[in-house]
Amino acid sequence: MGLKLNTQPGIMGVKAYVGGASEIAGNANAIKLSSNENPLGPSPKAIAAYSAQAANMHRYPSVDHAALRELIAQTYKLDMTRILIGCGSDEIISFLCRAFAGVGDEVLYTEHGFGMYQISARLSGATPVSVPENNRVTDVDALLGAVNENTRLVFIANPNNPTGTMTPNAEIARLADGLPDGCLLVLDGAYAEFVYGFDGGASFVEARDNVVMTRTFSKIFGLGGLRIGWGYGPANVMEVLNRLKGPFNVSGAALAAAKAALEDETYTEHCRAENEKWRGWLAAELGKIGIPSDPSFANFILIRFGSTDEAQAANAHLQNNGLIVRMVANYNLPQALRITIGDETACRQIVTALTEFKAGK
Ligand SMILES: *Cc1c(COP(=O)(O)O)cnc(C)c1O
Repeated sequence: MGLKLNTQPGIMGVKAYVGGASEIAGNANAIKLSSNENPLGPSPKAIAAYSAQAANMHRYPSVDHAALRELIAQTYKLDMTRILIGCGSDEIISFLCRAFAGVGDEVLYTEHGFGMYQISARLSGATPVSVPENNRVTDVDALLGAVNENTRLVFIANPNNPTGTMTPNAEIARLADGLPDGCLLVLDGAYAEFVYGFDGGASFVEARDNVVMTRTFSKIFGLGGLRIGWGYGPANVMEVLNRLKGPFNVSGAALAAAKAALEDETYTEHCRAENEKWRGWLAAELGKIGIPSDPSFANFILIRFGSTDEAQAANAHLQNNGLIVRMVANYNLPQALRITIGDETACRQIVTALTEFKAGK
């Protein structure tokens, strides 16, 4: 008999986050298109900045992340004092749940919403509540209908993962306006940079006192392996979140790489343009062979099949061809597969493999 554990409520109810597969047994050349990583990699300037930090690894990193916060503020025209840098935007999501949602409180997220919302909600003892979407698009009326006096947080990603769809600004405004006092709307802008002219929700943060935005360096900036993201919100919210932050939550190398990545606007623009080009091509080519997808605003497309069996068989066929994509049954989308937009070679291989699949080869 072991020691009696007084494990806090919620923790044992968590199912571990399942990341995108990264290997196929016996195939060293498999192409990974399962985690929405940048196929072009990080900016060479970010790699150089990271390398330059190597000899400093005995030093503790900055506590206040002032240099990076200043650059973010300048780049996006935000108030530096309300920016919080996290160990991935996952950490900001976790801080929000820990700070504002405990036992007896409810945290809303959408049916096909990002997995970390419900995991973080459970870890803080709160009850995650899944709200239906409308044909794979966030349904503001359904969300407002699910809000009650216990609701503390509403998470939506815009563009959403794994659907790739977007919620129009007018709908976001309606949602923010409809929430009761004491309930925060969190706009997860992990894919904001892929949308030309989109501010990720910053203007909502500026105009309201109940909206928080999260952002990441993991997607267009290609720094998923370094774990760095940030949050932006009203001063009183950010003051609370700041207290949850460990003094050294982000490494010096990650801070340096993020700064260099953000400064390299030419490279980011190149990544955005390549993504847009190959996303459009891939969706159109698959459409021609009877594999539909919703117009995506992010760096992946969600392709749909006629049945769960067909989606699984397509996934197996892709694997046999060295292509790793994401099964999304655990996002309540058992008939779909999410494919990260790769480089030209990867996109062409996907089309070739799925054309064979549809032809029954
Ligand atoms: C990838 C992703 C994130 C990023 O998480 P990090 O912890 O910053 O790597 C956040 N939200 C959504 C919806 C994502 O898809």
